[in-house]
Amino acid sequence: MELFHGPTLAFKDFAMQLIGQMFQTVLERRGERITIVGATSGDTGSAAIEAFRGLDNVDVCILYPHGRVSEVQRRQMTTPAEANVHALAVEGTFDDCQRHLKDMFADQAFRGEVRLAAVNSINWARVLAQVVYYWWASASLGGQTLSFTVPTGNFGDIYAGFIAKRMGLATDRLVIATNRNDILRAAVQGGRYEVGTVHPTISPSMDIQVSSNFERLLFDAMDRDGARVAALMNSLKQSGGFTIPEAAQARIRRHFDADSASEEETGDRIAATFADTGELVCPHTAVGLDVAETHLDIDVPMVALATAHPAKFPDAVEAATGIRPPLPKHLGNLYDRSERVTRVENDLAAIQSVIREKRAK
Ligand SMILES: *Cc1c(COP(=O)(O)O)cnc(C)c1O
Repeated sequence: MELFHGPTLAFKDFAMQLIGQMFQTVLERRGERITIVGATSGDTGSAAIEAFRGLDNVDVCILYPHGRVSEVQRRQMTTPAEANVHALAVEGTFDDCQRHLKDMFADQAFRGEVRLAAVNSINWARVLAQVVYYWWASASLGGQTLSFTVPTGNFGDIYAGFIAKRMGLATDRLVIATNRNDILRAAVQGGRYEVGTVHPTISPSMDIQVSSNFERLLFDAMDRDGARVAALMNSLKQSGGFTIPEAAQARIRRHFDADSASEEETGDRIAATFADTGELVCPHTAVGLDVAETHLDIDVPMVALATAHPAKFPDAVEAATGIRPPLPKHLGNLYDRSERVTRVENDLAAIQSVIREKRAK
């Protein structure tokens, strides 16, 4: 199920495009103006910029780690000409950007001054928007029972599939596919959720250790007992891990399978898919396809979610197939457009003053 035909070539456009318009409608009605600040390792930043560019009541500032995003990702953030779009290249890592963002939200004075707002992946409206395409898949295939394999990072996309199932969609298995950052596979297969270090992979949008939306599944699997879930989350904070209670493990496994693909398997799957079908797939999609292959049931069609366009990750695709996928037409001149970006020190006060200055213009 190709979900990457939106403006920034990743499935995140589905949710971002919707909430951009929702924000604008409500702000217009209230006569308010807000500043959206986000930190990105690539795809979320461009999807947010694309959703909010040119809107009257919103400034959008995206922090990304200088020199650590792909050229396509960077250009998607730095080439929009609208005055309300501000790309900030921070002299640090993605973790630094995320830390500064958290500190900004904790700074009450700053928060009020610029009317700070967020669009991160636990935003409930984003999850809801993603429920729709699970139903669309079912309707397209005549309403028969389906299984889904979903390349997973923050557990937002596949959690939307679980919501669809809870709403009554005829669904058999929901298969979590991870790259070598496989904390979710270990949690679902073995019951132990344990944070390690993030390994960079060729599917970078899934290079995540703590999957924010997984907490929501736990809440459901533990009889919606908020206090017990909070205790597990606390132990995650204190000791870097927790064991999922047996009964909750069994409930999770009633709906979910989980598996991971190594870097080599991912590359091989891109090559094999091209050889078998003539289709170029992005490395995230390839992780999903590789895992889907080992979870097939003869009686139930498997829908694999394709989360990004191959041209967004041209190096990995070229390495596997020898073919460099071209950008689609609407991004065809991305490499020729002029860039606008503000370099900023890896320092909270410096970032805050740039944001103040940008939104004043
Ligand atoms: C964000 C992203 C994912 C992971 O989605 P989650 O909702 O975080 O699980 C997978 N593939 C691509 C291309 C992405 O951009």
